[in-house]
Amino acid sequence: MTATETPTIFAPATAPGRAGVAVLRLSGPLAFSVLASLTDDKRFSPRVLSFARFYDPTTGELIDSGLAVSFPAPASFTGEDVVEIHIHGSAAVISKLVSVLAARPGVRWAEPGEFTRRAFDNGKLDLTEAEALADLLAAETEAQRRQALHQMDGALARRFESLRTRAIDVLAFIEAVIDFPEDDLPTETQAQSVKKIKTLCADLSELVESARSGCRIRHGLSVAVVGAPNVGKSSLVNRLAGWDVAIVSPTAGTTRDRVSVDLVLQGLPVTVTDTAGLRDAAEDIEAEGIRRAERAVAMADVRLAVFSAETWPAETDPTWRWVDSETLVVVNKSDLMDETMSSLAIASPILVSAETGEGIDALLQALTDRASALVAQQAGPSAPITRERHRILAVTALTALNRALEQQEQDLQAEDVRLAIRELGRITGRIDVEDVLGRIFSEFCIGK
Ligand code: GDP
Repeated sequence: MTATETPTIFAPATAPGRAGVAVLRLSGPLAFSVLASLTDDKRFSPRVLSFARFYDPTTGELIDSGLAVSFPAPASFTGEDVVEIHIHGSAAVISKLVSVLAARPGVRWAEPGEFTRRAFDNGKLDLTEAEALADLLAAETEAQRRQALHQMDGALARRFESLRTRAIDVLAFIEAVIDFPEDDLPTETQAQSVKKIKTLCADLSELVESARSGCRIRHGLSVAVVGAPNVGKSSLVNRLAGWDVAIVSPTAGTTRDRVSVDLVLQGLPVTVTDTAGLRDAAEDIEAEGIRRAERAVAMADVRLAVFSAETWPAETDPTWRWVDSETLVVVNKSDLMDETMSSLAIASPILVSAETGEGIDALLQALTDRASALVAQQAGPSAPITRERHRILAVTALTALNRALEQQEQDLQAEDVRLAIRELGRITGRIDVEDVLGRIFSEFCIGK
């Protein structure tokens, strides 16, 4: 596309609503001339925020006064000429300026994610960095912020790029052997390429493994609360929601009918779900509903098995089938506990009372420890995989490399390595994948 064909786009970069300041951003070949026409040809030094009055160029009417800054291409977010206009954050000011901009030929509203898409098209960031930017904008906890920032800095891109470069080296090596077989001993060179592929496989599997921790941080960890009716599961979930240290998501209220609550434990997002609630809700669609509830329990990162002190140790309670060495066993209603209850030693339960709040701190601590351990378990020293998209492509590349190890024919081995290189290239966007691009950039809001 030539410069004259590329439309200049604009959108508010700040959220809608009344605010002290709103920022409007323009990107494209007309960005500077539009700014000049709004400001009576005032000159702006690049990357310096300057005071300006903004006028409607057709009527000469003053729209607002504020600040403006220009970023000449290619040293800008999008890689194009970019202008930021800082005005007062009122609906009337924004709407007046927007209508003036929209009236300009060659200038139009940006689509969701279009600024970032242009940055990608101009090589300013790769796909994993663009995804990380979306994650950073959506981050609600410390762990999410840290992970997204690290990935946005190119940490994951570098891991994939280094693997891809190494795979390209291996391919060049195999192809050289195919082209000049007489230059070396076939068995020796075969052994060398096998060795190189094996180390690549080991490093790639480590990266694939990191997806567990990366995706857990991105989506949050799931905690399933299981237990017989009336042991106090929903009281416990409600108690967790109201606890001081447990900052809850805006959707979490304090009503009795809630089935899940979002907590932030030491920066980690954690969703605690009372699965009995799922079962109750699913009464009409019995079989499927129960299957889903059971799957939710089986898939949960952490299981919390709740018993009542009144019936503890409840040997025949079917809840025991969910208890393994990883399950947190909780005995609720400690306020009703019989002093002679000696069987607490079984399964070393955490003793709580949803009624009085006793033991809730210890339960939260145990949950925090378990969540941190789960995330730390898989986390390597560098950036983990954070999306299913990366994981699927990485697994396909790994499968191809493992297949290459089995191949007797070097032609076939080369073909498998080539396939792995292509899949690795798709992760960072080096290989064109239009359908994926559309999906990734539509995640953004307008203005990013
Ligand atoms: P669920 O069916 O497991 O979700 O149980 P609920 O949370 O609905 O609680 C069942 C009953 O036990 C309710 O009457 C609660 O008030 C009561 N209950 C829950 N936790 C406690 C507790 O720690 N102590 C006492 N004494 N009663 C409790």
